[in-house]
Amino acid sequence: MTRTGTTTATTPITRRGVCLVISAPSGAGKSTIANALRAADPRLRHSVSITTRTPRPGETDGIHYHFRSMDEFQRMAEQGELLEWATVFGRGYGTPRAPVEQALAAGYDMVFDIDWQGHRQIRTALPDDVASLFVLPPSLTELERRLTGRAADAPEEIRRRMDAALAEISHWQEFDHVIVNAELDRAIAEARAVLTAARLRTPRQTGLADFVAGFLG
Ligand code: 5GP
Repeated sequence: MTRTGTTTATTPITRRGVCLVISAPSGAGKSTIANALRAADPRLRHSVSITTRTPRPGETDGIHYHFRSMDEFQRMAEQGELLEWATVFGRGYGTPRAPVEQALAAGYDMVFDIDWQGHRQIRTALPDDVASLFVLPPSLTELERRLTGRAADAPEEIRRRMDAALAEISHWQEFDHVIVNAELDRAIAEARAVLTAARLRTPRQTGLADFVAGFLG
């Protein structure tokens, strides 16, 4: 029972959203993990990146990426419309700033499927909002198998991605948390635990001040 005042345990609690950054080498399963988190959680939104690469089969503009020209990408970067951006495999990738700021202010959390370069920049831009997670594959052999199984990419693209995978993995210690995706259900549960812990960090719970004041009288 609440002792005093008008606040109760059911009082709506507002807090600023969390930025959950998930990075991994291509093929380690980060998109699958991010999608599973989002599917089960209406407070979690996906940051849709801009890219200059062409869509793969099954990818839809505005859902998987905003597919844009290099000219448009450069214009957005120059005008500060991107929260972070990087060149990966010679193509531009970046996070549109406005949707992130709107979501966080409204108390929605956002999941970012970006690389280590994006993680560094977003951490600098939003130091109090980021919780980051690096996903490792269970082995290099398994990573190679997963990349080869993705029929959309040509063999030279797969080779390039294997080299890039090692470069991405070399940054694993820059992240707050690291998991090994040997078993998908477990990896999803671990990622969810990271998000839950980030949501519950005391500095984020400013909305609890009035609630606690009700206890303290
Ligand atoms: P893919 O072309 O396979 O979708 O993505 C290639 C790489 O680009 C992945 O490592 C992915 O995480 C990264 N990436 C996707 N969107 C962004 C972004 O907005 N910013 C940054 N820095 N990297 C991104």
